[in-house]
Amino acid sequence: MNLAERLDLRGGRNCWREAPSQYEPDQLPQSCDVVIIGAGVMGALVSQRLAAEGFDVTLLDRRASSTGATAASTALVMWGADVPLTHLARAIGVEEAMRRWRRVFSAVELLNHRIATLTLDCGWRARPELYLAGDVLDPDSLKQEAAARVSAGLPSEFMEAATLGERFDIAPRDGLLSSGSFEVDPVALTLGMIKAARSAGAKLCYPYEVERLELAPEGVRVHCENGADIRAKHVVLATGYEAARLFLPEAFSLSSSYAIASKPGEAPAWCENALIWESSDPYLYARATTDGRIIVGGEDEDFVDAMKRDALIPEKQAVLAAKAALMLQRDDIQFDCAWAATFGGSPDGLPAIGRAQTMARVLLAYGYGGNGVTFAALGSEMVRALIRGEDDPDVSCFDPYRAFGQQDER
Ligand SMILES: Cc1cc2nc3c(=O)[nH]c(=O)nc-3n(C[C@H](O)[C@H](O)[C@H](O)COP(=O)(O)OP(=O)(O)OC[C@H]3O[C@@H](n4cnc5c(N)ncnc54)[C@H](O)[C@@H]3O)c2cc1C
Repeated sequence: MNLAERLDLRGGRNCWREAPSQYEPDQLPQSCDVVIIGAGVMGALVSQRLAAEGFDVTLLDRRASSTGATAASTALVMWGADVPLTHLARAIGVEEAMRRWRRVFSAVELLNHRIATLTLDCGWRARPELYLAGDVLDPDSLKQEAAARVSAGLPSEFMEAATLGERFDIAPRDGLLSSGSFEVDPVALTLGMIKAARSAGAKLCYPYEVERLELAPEGVRVHCENGADIRAKHVVLATGYEAARLFLPEAFSLSSSYAIASKPGEAPAWCENALIWESSDPYLYARATTDGRIIVGGEDEDFVDAMKRDALIPEKQAVLAAKAALMLQRDDIQFDCAWAATFGGSPDGLPAIGRAQTMARVLLAYGYGGNGVTFAALGSEMVRALIRGEDDPDVSCFDPYRAFGQQDER
């Protein structure tokens, strides 16, 4: 099983600080309980969770930690997923859809709690979420979405256009106002979790390019490109958008996404600190950071070719800035960062977490969908339960080989 697929995951200039290489890599041990391949936000959260429980964990990466897709993230930690609850309910039934959304909601709460308990300095800040009517959910459908969320016990309320526009000082549009979300600096979160994992005994080894996995007595042997190898009782694949397609069904697909950011200080009094996004295709979202940058993103393209993707950055920057000006009713914002990145999606907007079908003792932890940071928190809980052999009632909800039901045409 060859894992050496390498993608150029991002281009342009994002607004996060690049991961400093302050972590001296550890020496590769000969064996351990769990090897986690991938030191992005998923690998970081899984490693911290397992190490804190006493597992002997080795985190391997071909790059320095948090320099993959995680560094491109706009890092809003939300529970509202790409596919609306009402659409998911039509595809798989109301009860199942609610179960999944409730579990994602509790993953946001758990991550919140973990950040606080570990006292991570990662730019945490609560953000209300405004979800505006668009061509995916018109105002009537948005009312139904609000009712579905409320009946699932999720904190959302419908707001009429005039009230919303006046309160948040944006172009009036019907919307949903939800609570429970927060923002982080994705690089700081990842590095903080890795630091906590290391304090609990985990090893971080890089650069190690994993090429191949081989079944070994009572475990798996992980072979690296430089000839090194390590044996583990369990392997967790947290390789982000690389190599994932070797394991995941075709329904999980890759695309390219774009984002722009202003200089700090452009949003001194930002819309009650809300994340604003449209239920549109292509979607648009905007938020401010703690240092007053305005981040706007969306405009996804259905391909992954990095040269083609990056060549579109200037054009996408202009489109995103124009859309933001309309939404925010401001045309004075100077954007000085623009970037593009590979992005993964799934038909139900939910991640792929569970056992690999093709190899025993290998677990998949892939946060496909716009809530990848939330899904990393979810992934760490599910992987922990699977490795411990404990029952998690929702394992089937995020199983990589689940059925997606009859999805709406978007
Ligand atoms: C533009 C953009 C905006 C986003 N906004 C949000 C948002 O607002 N909120 C949110 O929750 N999510 C968001 N996401 C999604 C989220 O950022 C991603 O889901 C998440 O960062 C993926 O993390 P990861 O750890 O799975 O992958 P990565 O960060 O890519 O980490 C995977 C690691 O695996 C390593 N690796 C791969 N193959 C090998 C190998 N063979 N050997 C060794 N190492 C290997 C790579 O080097 C890499 O470091 C956004 C994504 C993008 C692109």
